[in-house]
Amino acid sequence: MKLELWYPVKKPGIASQGFGPSKTAPDLLPMYKKLGLLAHNGIDYPLPRGTPIRAAHNGLVVYAGMDSNGGWGVVIRTQEPFDYNNDLVFAKSIYWHLLPNIPVKVGAQVKAGDIIGYADTTGLATGSHLHFGLKPQLKGENDWTWYNVEQNNGYNGSIDPAPYWNGYYAEDAQTIISIMGQQISILQKLVSLMKLALGK
Ligand SMILES: [Zn+2]
Repeated sequence: MKLELWYPVKKPGIASQGFGPSKTAPDLLPMYKKLGLLAHNGIDYPLPRGTPIRAAHNGLVVYAGMDSNGGWGVVIRTQEPFDYNNDLVFAKSIYWHLLPNIPVKVGAQVKAGDIIGYADTTGLATGSHLHFGLKPQLKGENDWTWYNVEQNNGYNGSIDPAPYWNGYYAEDAQTIISIMGQQISILQKLVSLMKLALGK
């Protein structure tokens, strides 16, 4: 199956930084270098403080809390594997700089579009924005702990999420999914009517 990500916020076109050296604000490059990264390891969306942030895919909340820089974040991992470089991997999406009042808990199952936090400037952030990251993961065969498939890629395992956007807002995900389901059931009814009409 192909990984599809729903935009976790509206106005996704106005990212202030994308993934990688060419899309990183030049004045921030030294900061990422200090953090041991080649450049920016995700996509930044400037947002007013308190803007709801939504899950970009179905999955399990595997982290909800504060990091050592005082940044609040949520991490969600898919429970289904996806095609990745001729392999099957799980996808972990990362949401950072949130307000501390995070509405989801570790272990909760979320659907694409569920509110998982609110935008803020917590941690290493100059203005209120969402940092969105994506890491392909697998479970170790010996100890069954999760590890990053791309850990040594210069971004601590993060990859560019941009190729995986499906073009729709997470806010609309459940409506779109239910309309698609209705269309499939209409098609299935048409097929059975046609079979009846053909005497099969
Ligand atoms: Zn960022």
